[in-house]
Amino acid sequence: MSFSAVTDLAPQHIRDIAPYQPGKPVSELARELGLNEAHIIKLASNENPLGVSPKALAAMTAALSQQALYPDGNGFALKDVIANKFNVNHYNIVLGNGSNDILEFAARTFLTPADSAVYSQHAFAVYPLAVKSVGARGIEVPAQNFGHDLDAMLAAIEPNTRLMFIANPNNPTGTFIDAALLYAALKKVPANVLVVMDEAYTEYLPRHLRVDTAGWIKVFPNLVISRTFSKAYGLAGLRVGYGLAHPDVVGLMNRVRQPFNVNSLAQTAAAAALLDNDFLERSFLVNEQGMAQMLTGFAALKLTHIPSFGNFVCIKIGARGGGAGAVFQTLLKAGIIVRPIASYGMPDYLRISIGTKDENAKFLTALQTALES
Ligand SMILES: *Cc1c(COP(=O)(O)O)cnc(C)c1O
Repeated sequence: MSFSAVTDLAPQHIRDIAPYQPGKPVSELARELGLNEAHIIKLASNENPLGVSPKALAAMTAALSQQALYPDGNGFALKDVIANKFNVNHYNIVLGNGSNDILEFAARTFLTPADSAVYSQHAFAVYPLAVKSVGARGIEVPAQNFGHDLDAMLAAIEPNTRLMFIANPNNPTGTFIDAALLYAALKKVPANVLVVMDEAYTEYLPRHLRVDTAGWIKVFPNLVISRTFSKAYGLAGLRVGYGLAHPDVVGLMNRVRQPFNVNSLAQTAAAAALLDNDFLERSFLVNEQGMAQMLTGFAALKLTHIPSFGNFVCIKIGARGGGAGAVFQTLLKAGIIVRPIASYGMPDYLRISIGTKDENAKFLTALQTALES
């Protein structure tokens, strides 16, 4: 092998990966613009605008002095709360350092470079990352009205396909697949294909659309449900999520999981947050009201949006204000961080996380100015 640079040491499939582009951190924008962090509004990463659940904060504070000890690698106390809340058993649960960890476990446990995985166009960027990092091939299926085209995804399954990712609701588009349709599609998935159903935003679904999908793992041994504490539970900084699946799938994933992948404070906070129904309900309501406020604002600005079932929404900027990239930059200068999604194949759009009433109002005012500039 000819060697010209240290990058040649990495296999081609690693060099081919396009790095994940996270939302811009508040501290970074503050440094760049010389602004006070307290004056910056971040609506870029679908974080909870209410902050941390008070019960989680109290539990973490009480646990601070115990951090010299390794965490419980088995996460017993957290699993107990998850098991009780969702009517599953401990052996159905795998804990993750964020739910991104669960997505990676799926790829590392079930894919080899000889395999492929199916996901949708405009779906969460971590799916292709996880698939490509193990040298497997991603099969991206064209979206339908920005959502998953389940029939086309089923048809795209090849003999070497071992994994299918379904985000419901999807990020960044906010699209949602009704439970009955999803269930019918799962029945058609071959037994030798594992489905990862990513439910990062499930807590934001209106009541009439909520279904006990956790119970589905008893019907489908090839189903993994992934959920997170980063969004409605307000714990994105701690990195904790979980997967629900058949015990054999959990057992396999635990082999690739680092023994102490979820730290003690995260476990403590997550268990408390799961029991903080008040906070969850307030988070839901603030999002519901904030979404209505945003949609009213977009209509007044004659902006079209993609109807969203999450705590964020995509608006079509088109050529206004110099285009989505320029509007993003103009908003940054006003101290407001949103998310450009050109890397998701949507260069005309911006994704906006729903904030507090005050944050939303300030954003809408700045957006109007940006569109006119
Ligand atoms: C935010 C998000 C996650 C959560 O990631 P964490 O690692 O749990 O913070 C997972 N899936 C989707 C689709 C998301 O948007």
